[in-house]
Amino acid sequence: MKRIGVLTSGGDCSGINATLKAIVEEAYKNNIRVTGFLEGYNGLVNNLAIELTPLQVSGILQRGGTILMTSRCEEFMQESGFKKALKTLEEEKIEGLIVIGGDGSLRGAKKLAESGIVCVGIPESIDNDIYGTDMALGVDTALNIITNAIDIIRDTASSHKRAFVIETMGRESGYLALMSAMASGAEAVLIPEVEYDIDSIMNRLKQEHERGRKYSIVVVAEGVKKTQEVTEKLKKEVGFDTRVTILGHIQRGGNPSVFDRTLGMRLGIKAVQSLINKKFGMVGLQGSDIKNVAFDVVFSNKKVFSQMMLEFARLKSR
Ligand code: ADP
Repeated sequence: MKRIGVLTSGGDCSGINATLKAIVEEAYKNNIRVTGFLEGYNGLVNNLAIELTPLQVSGILQRGGTILMTSRCEEFMQESGFKKALKTLEEEKIEGLIVIGGDGSLRGAKKLAESGIVCVGIPESIDNDIYGTDMALGVDTALNIITNAIDIIRDTASSHKRAFVIETMGRESGYLALMSAMASGAEAVLIPEVEYDIDSIMNRLKQEHERGRKYSIVVVAEGVKKTQEVTEKLKKEVGFDTRVTILGHIQRGGNPSVFDRTLGMRLGIKAVQSLINKKFGMVGLQGSDIKNVAFDVVFSNKKVFSQMMLEFARLKSR
Protein backbone atom coordinates (compact mmCIF):
# COMPACT_ATOMS: atom_id res chain seq x y z
CA MET A 1 0.00 0.00 0.00
CA LYS A 2 1.58 3.27 -1.13
CA ARG A 3 -1.12 5.92 -0.70
CA ILE A 4 -4.26 6.32 1.35
CA GLY A 5 -6.86 9.08 1.43
CA VAL A 6 -8.76 10.70 4.28
CA LEU A 7 -11.75 13.02 4.50
CA THR A 8 -13.88 14.55 7.26
CA SER A 9 -17.61 14.76 6.57
CA GLY A 10 -20.91 15.86 8.16
CA GLY A 11 -21.09 17.73 11.45
CA ASP A 12 -17.76 18.70 12.98
CA CYS A 13 -16.60 18.00 16.52
CA SER A 14 -13.50 18.21 18.69
CA GLY A 15 -10.80 15.57 18.32
CA ILE A 16 -10.81 15.26 14.53
CA ASN A 17 -7.48 17.05 14.11
CA ALA A 18 -5.84 14.73 16.65
CA THR A 19 -7.18 11.83 14.59
CA LEU A 20 -5.77 13.28 11.36
CA LYS A 21 -2.38 13.70 12.98
CA ALA A 22 -2.36 10.07 14.14
CA ILE A 23 -3.43 8.85 10.68
CA VAL A 24 -0.62 10.71 8.92
CA GLU A 25 2.02 9.66 11.45
CA GLU A 26 0.96 6.01 11.44
CA ALA A 27 0.86 5.99 7.64
CA TYR A 28 4.34 7.53 7.33
CA LYS A 29 5.67 5.00 9.85
CA ASN A 30 4.56 2.37 7.32
CA ASN A 31 5.92 4.25 4.29
CA ILE A 32 2.45 5.21 3.11
CA ARG A 33 1.65 8.68 1.79
CA VAL A 34 -1.59 10.47 2.63
CA THR A 35 -3.94 12.51 0.48
CA GLY A 36 -6.49 14.69 2.26
CA PHE A 37 -9.75 15.46 0.46
CA LEU A 38 -11.15 18.86 1.42
CA GLU A 39 -14.79 19.52 2.40
CA GLY A 40 -15.95 15.96 2.98
CA TYR A 41 -17.42 14.06 0.03
CA ASN A 42 -17.35 17.25 -2.02
CA GLY A 43 -13.57 16.79 -2.08
CA LEU A 44 -14.03 13.36 -3.67
CA VAL A 45 -16.71 14.46 -6.14
CA ASN A 46 -14.77 17.53 -7.30
CA ASN A 47 -11.24 16.30 -6.61
CA LEU A 48 -10.09 18.72 -3.92
CA ALA A 49 -6.96 16.73 -3.04
CA ILE A 50 -4.07 17.98 -0.94
CA GLU A 51 -0.92 16.25 0.26
CA LEU A 52 -0.94 15.66 4.03
CA THR A 53 2.53 15.38 5.49
CA PRO A 54 3.64 15.03 9.13
CA LEU A 55 4.73 18.67 8.98
CA GLN A 56 1.24 19.78 7.98
CA VAL A 57 -0.37 17.95 10.87
CA SER A 58 2.10 19.17 13.49
CA GLY A 59 0.63 21.54 16.07
CA ILE A 60 -3.01 20.68 15.30
CA LEU A 61 -3.70 18.02 17.93
CA GLN A 62 -5.20 20.42 20.46
CA ARG A 63 -7.38 22.35 17.99
CA GLY A 64 -11.13 21.82 17.57
CA GLY A 65 -12.79 21.58 14.15
CA THR A 66 -11.05 19.98 11.18
CA ILE A 67 -8.18 21.32 9.08
CA LEU A 68 -9.64 19.38 6.12
CA MET A 69 -12.94 21.29 6.42
CA THR A 70 -16.25 19.47 6.30
CA SER A 71 -19.53 19.82 4.44
CA ARG A 72 -22.71 18.09 3.43
CA CYS A 73 -22.66 16.94 -0.17
CA GLU A 74 -25.91 16.19 -1.99
CA GLU A 75 -24.08 15.40 -5.24
CA PHE A 76 -22.31 12.43 -3.66
CA MET A 77 -25.69 10.86 -2.95
CA GLN A 78 -26.60 10.92 -6.64
CA GLU A 79 -25.35 8.30 -9.09
CA SER A 80 -23.40 10.83 -11.22
CA GLY A 81 -21.66 12.38 -8.18
CA PHE A 82 -20.83 8.99 -6.75
CA LYS A 83 -19.22 7.96 -10.05
CA LYS A 84 -17.15 11.16 -10.03
CA ALA A 85 -15.99 10.27 -6.50
CA LEU A 86 -14.88 6.81 -7.65
CA LYS A 87 -13.04 8.40 -10.59
CA THR A 88 -11.17 10.79 -8.26
CA LEU A 89 -10.03 7.90 -6.07
CA GLU A 90 -8.69 6.16 -9.18
CA GLU A 91 -7.00 9.28 -10.55
CA GLU A 92 -5.31 9.99 -7.23
CA LYS A 93 -4.19 6.34 -6.93
CA ILE A 94 -5.85 5.93 -3.53
CA GLU A 95 -5.49 2.35 -2.29
CA GLY A 96 -7.45 2.83 0.92
CA LEU A 97 -9.75 5.55 2.25
CA ILE A 98 -10.54 6.69 5.80
CA VAL A 99 -13.84 8.54 6.33
CA ILE A 100 -14.25 10.45 9.60
CA GLY A 101 -17.87 11.38 10.17
CA GLY A 102 -21.29 10.72 11.65
CA ASP A 103 -24.02 8.27 10.73
CA GLY A 104 -24.65 9.69 7.24
CA SER A 105 -20.96 9.92 6.38
CA LEU A 106 -20.40 6.33 7.51
CA ARG A 107 -23.29 5.21 5.29
CA GLY A 108 -21.41 6.87 2.45
CA ALA A 109 -18.29 4.92 3.46
CA LYS A 110 -20.31 1.70 3.42
CA LYS A 111 -21.50 2.49 -0.09
CA LEU A 112 -17.91 3.10 -1.23
CA ALA A 113 -16.84 -0.19 0.37
CA GLU A 114 -19.64 -1.98 -1.48
CA SER A 115 -18.26 -0.53 -4.72
CA GLY A 116 -14.90 -2.14 -4.06
CA ILE A 117 -13.11 0.76 -2.34
CA VAL A 118 -10.97 -0.30 0.59
CA CYS A 119 -12.61 1.86 3.22
CA VAL A 120 -12.53 2.36 7.00
CA GLY A 121 -14.87 4.66 8.96
CA ILE A 122 -14.12 6.57 12.15
CA PRO A 123 -17.26 7.45 14.18
CA GLU A 124 -17.66 11.09 15.07
CA SER A 125 -20.88 12.48 16.52
CA ILE A 126 -21.55 14.56 19.61
CA ASP A 127 -24.86 12.68 20.05
CA ASN A 128 -23.05 9.37 20.63
CA ASP A 129 -25.67 7.64 18.49
CA ILE A 130 -23.42 5.38 16.43
CA TYR A 131 -23.74 1.67 17.21
CA GLY A 132 -20.49 -0.27 17.67
CA THR A 133 -18.52 2.31 19.63
CA ASP A 134 -19.04 3.03 23.32
CA MET A 135 -18.04 6.62 22.67
CA ALA A 136 -17.90 8.48 19.36
CA LEU A 137 -15.27 11.13 18.84
CA GLY A 138 -16.28 14.56 20.20
CA VAL A 139 -18.84 13.36 22.73
CA ASP A 140 -16.64 13.81 25.77
CA THR A 141 -15.57 17.35 24.85
CA ALA A 142 -19.17 18.39 24.15
CA LEU A 143 -20.29 16.98 27.50
CA ASN A 144 -17.50 18.78 29.33
CA ILE A 145 -18.47 22.08 27.69
CA ILE A 146 -22.17 21.63 28.55
CA THR A 147 -21.46 20.58 32.12
CA ASN A 148 -19.10 23.51 32.65
CA ALA A 149 -21.76 25.86 31.25
CA ILE A 150 -24.41 24.45 33.60
CA ASP A 151 -22.03 24.82 36.58
CA ILE A 152 -21.51 28.47 35.66
CA ILE A 153 -25.23 29.08 35.20
CA ARG A 154 -25.96 27.39 38.54
CA ASP A 155 -23.83 30.02 40.31
CA THR A 156 -26.06 32.76 38.88
CA ALA A 157 -29.27 30.81 39.46
CA SER A 158 -28.42 30.24 43.12
CA SER A 159 -27.42 33.87 43.69
CA HIS A 160 -30.68 35.25 42.28
CA LYS A 161 -33.29 32.66 43.24
CA ARG A 162 -33.83 31.86 39.59
CA ALA A 163 -34.72 28.91 37.46
CA PHE A 164 -32.74 28.21 34.33
CA VAL A 165 -33.89 26.17 31.37
CA ILE A 166 -30.91 24.95 29.39
CA GLU A 167 -31.36 23.64 25.87
CA THR A 168 -28.75 21.23 24.58
CA MET A 169 -28.13 20.07 21.00
CA GLY A 170 -29.74 16.83 19.83
CA ARG A 171 -32.61 16.62 17.37
CA GLU A 172 -33.39 12.95 17.80
CA SER A 173 -30.96 12.15 20.58
CA GLY A 174 -31.24 13.12 24.24
CA TYR A 175 -27.79 11.76 25.06
CA LEU A 176 -26.10 15.11 25.74
CA ALA A 177 -29.08 16.37 27.76
CA LEU A 178 -29.30 13.25 29.89
CA MET A 179 -25.59 12.83 30.58
CA SER A 180 -25.05 16.52 31.33
CA ALA A 181 -28.13 16.55 33.59
CA MET A 182 -26.60 13.70 35.55
CA ALA A 183 -23.13 15.27 35.62
CA SER A 184 -24.40 18.67 36.74
CA GLY A 185 -27.12 17.58 39.16
CA ALA A 186 -29.97 19.19 37.21
CA GLU A 187 -33.38 18.93 38.85
CA ALA A 188 -35.20 17.79 35.71
CA VAL A 189 -34.48 16.66 32.15
CA LEU A 190 -36.59 16.24 29.02
CA ILE A 191 -35.34 13.97 26.23
CA PRO A 192 -37.02 12.49 23.15
CA GLU A 193 -36.34 8.86 24.14
CA VAL A 194 -38.22 8.90 27.46
CA GLU A 195 -41.83 9.88 28.13
CA TYR A 196 -41.98 13.03 30.23
CA ASP A 197 -44.72 14.74 32.21
CA ILE A 198 -44.22 18.48 32.38
CA ASP A 199 -47.05 19.05 34.87
CA SER A 200 -45.64 16.48 37.22
CA ILE A 201 -42.18 18.09 36.93
CA MET A 202 -43.75 21.47 37.78
CA ASN A 203 -45.52 20.03 40.83
CA ARG A 204 -42.29 18.50 42.06
CA LEU A 205 -40.30 21.69 41.56
CA LYS A 206 -43.08 23.74 43.21
CA GLN A 207 -43.03 21.50 46.27
CA GLU A 208 -39.24 21.73 46.44
CA HIS A 209 -39.49 25.51 46.06
CA GLU A 210 -42.01 25.70 48.91
CA ARG A 211 -39.73 23.58 51.07
CA GLY A 212 -37.01 26.18 50.59
CA ARG A 213 -35.18 25.23 47.43
CA LYS A 214 -33.76 28.46 46.03
CA TYR A 215 -33.28 27.64 42.36
CA SER A 216 -33.84 24.98 39.73
CA ILE A 217 -32.03 23.81 36.62
CA VAL A 218 -33.99 22.03 33.90
CA VAL A 219 -32.13 20.56 30.90
CA VAL A 220 -34.15 20.16 27.69
CA ALA A 221 -32.93 18.38 24.56
CA GLU A 222 -33.49 20.52 21.45
CA GLY A 223 -35.49 17.69 19.83
CA VAL A 224 -38.38 17.74 22.32
CA LYS A 225 -39.20 21.35 21.37
CA LYS A 226 -40.50 22.16 24.85
CA THR A 227 -38.01 24.82 25.94
CA GLN A 228 -40.54 27.65 25.72
CA GLU A 229 -43.37 25.73 27.37
CA VAL A 230 -41.20 24.65 30.30
CA THR A 231 -39.98 28.24 30.73
CA GLU A 232 -43.51 29.67 30.80
CA LYS A 233 -44.69 27.06 33.28
CA LEU A 234 -41.73 27.63 35.59
CA LYS A 235 -42.63 31.33 35.64
CA LYS A 236 -46.38 30.98 36.00
CA GLU A 237 -46.88 27.77 37.93
CA VAL A 238 -43.79 27.55 40.11
CA GLY A 239 -43.25 31.28 40.46
CA PHE A 240 -39.60 31.33 39.53
CA ASP A 241 -37.88 34.22 37.81
CA THR A 242 -36.89 32.03 34.84
CA ARG A 243 -34.22 32.43 32.17
CA VAL A 244 -33.39 30.36 29.13
CA THR A 245 -29.95 29.49 27.82
CA ILE A 246 -29.72 27.83 24.42
CA LEU A 247 -26.18 26.48 24.33
CA GLY A 248 -26.11 26.11 20.52
CA HIS A 249 -22.84 25.79 18.66
CA ILE A 250 -20.50 26.23 21.61
CA GLN A 251 -21.21 22.53 22.13
CA ARG A 252 -19.31 21.50 18.98
CA GLY A 253 -16.04 23.35 19.14
CA GLY A 254 -13.26 24.07 21.59
CA ASN A 255 -10.05 22.29 22.46
CA PRO A 256 -10.65 18.55 22.66
CA SER A 257 -10.61 16.90 26.08
CA VAL A 258 -7.80 14.50 26.94
CA PHE A 259 -10.26 11.66 26.35
CA ASP A 260 -11.11 12.86 22.82
CA ARG A 261 -7.46 13.51 21.94
CA THR A 262 -6.41 10.02 22.94
CA LEU A 263 -9.55 8.39 21.52
CA GLY A 264 -8.98 10.18 18.21
CA MET A 265 -5.32 9.14 18.10
CA ARG A 266 -6.17 5.52 18.90
CA LEU A 267 -8.96 5.40 16.30
CA GLY A 268 -6.63 7.00 13.73
CA ILE A 269 -3.82 4.51 14.34
CA LYS A 270 -6.24 1.57 14.24
CA ALA A 271 -7.84 2.86 11.01
CA VAL A 272 -4.47 2.88 9.20
CA GLN A 273 -3.57 -0.56 10.59
CA SER A 274 -6.98 -1.83 9.47
CA LEU A 275 -6.38 -0.62 5.92
CA ILE A 276 -2.97 -2.31 5.88
CA ASN A 277 -4.41 -5.56 7.29
CA LYS A 278 -7.46 -5.38 5.00
CA LYS A 279 -9.96 -5.26 7.88
CA PHE A 280 -12.68 -2.99 6.60
CA GLY A 281 -15.66 -1.36 8.27
CA MET A 282 -15.72 0.96 11.24
CA VAL A 283 -13.23 1.20 14.08
CA GLY A 284 -14.78 1.78 17.48
CA LEU A 285 -14.13 1.84 21.21
CA GLN A 286 -15.46 -1.24 22.96
CA GLY A 287 -14.58 -1.41 26.64
CA SER A 288 -10.96 -0.31 26.76
CA ASP A 289 -10.04 -1.65 23.30
CA ILE A 290 -10.32 -0.26 19.79
CA LYS A 291 -12.05 -2.87 17.65
CA ASN A 292 -13.08 -3.41 14.02
CA VAL A 293 -16.84 -3.41 13.52
CA ALA A 294 -18.41 -4.44 10.19
CA PHE A 295 -20.56 -1.74 8.55
CA ASP A 296 -23.48 -4.19 8.50
CA VAL A 297 -23.29 -4.53 12.27
CA VAL A 298 -23.15 -0.73 12.68
CA PHE A 299 -26.25 -0.15 10.56
CA SER A 300 -28.39 -3.11 11.55
CA ASN A 301 -28.35 -2.20 15.24
CA LYS A 302 -29.55 0.79 17.22
CA LYS A 303 -27.75 2.31 20.15
CA VAL A 304 -29.90 2.47 23.28
CA PHE A 305 -29.48 3.85 26.79
CA SER A 306 -28.52 1.43 29.55
CA GLN A 307 -31.24 0.43 32.02
CA MET A 308 -29.60 2.56 34.70
CA MET A 309 -29.62 5.68 32.50
CA LEU A 310 -33.23 5.05 31.50
CA GLU A 311 -34.27 4.81 35.13
CA PHE A 312 -32.40 8.01 35.93
CA ALA A 313 -34.13 9.73 32.99
CA ARG A 314 -37.57 8.55 34.14
CA LEU A 315 -36.91 9.83 37.65
CA LYS A 316 -35.95 13.27 36.36
CA SER A 317 -38.67 13.62 33.75
CA ARG A 318 -41.69 13.58 36.02
P1 ADP B 1 -23.27 13.08 9.53
O1 ADP B 1 -22.21 12.30 8.85
O2 ADP B 1 -22.73 14.02 10.55
O3 ADP B 1 -24.39 12.19 10.03
P2 ADP B 1 -24.95 13.81 7.26
O4 ADP B 1 -26.01 12.84 7.59
O5 ADP B 1 -25.37 15.17 6.82
O6 ADP B 1 -23.94 14.07 8.46
O7 ADP B 1 -24.05 13.15 6.11
C1 ADP B 1 -22.91 13.80 5.60
C2 ADP B 1 -22.76 13.45 4.14
O8 ADP B 1 -22.60 12.04 4.00
C3 ADP B 1 -23.95 13.80 3.26
O9 ADP B 1 -23.96 15.15 2.87
C4 ADP B 1 -23.73 12.87 2.09
O10 ADP B 1 -22.75 13.40 1.21
C5 ADP B 1 -23.19 11.62 2.76
N1 ADP B 1 -24.28 10.66 3.04
C6 ADP B 1 -25.22 10.75 4.00
N2 ADP B 1 -26.07 9.70 3.97
C7 ADP B 1 -25.67 8.92 2.95
C8 ADP B 1 -26.12 7.68 2.39
N3 ADP B 1 -27.18 7.04 2.88
N4 ADP B 1 -25.45 7.18 1.32
C9 ADP B 1 -24.37 7.82 0.81
N5 ADP B 1 -23.89 8.98 1.29
C10 ADP B 1 -24.51 9.53 2.35
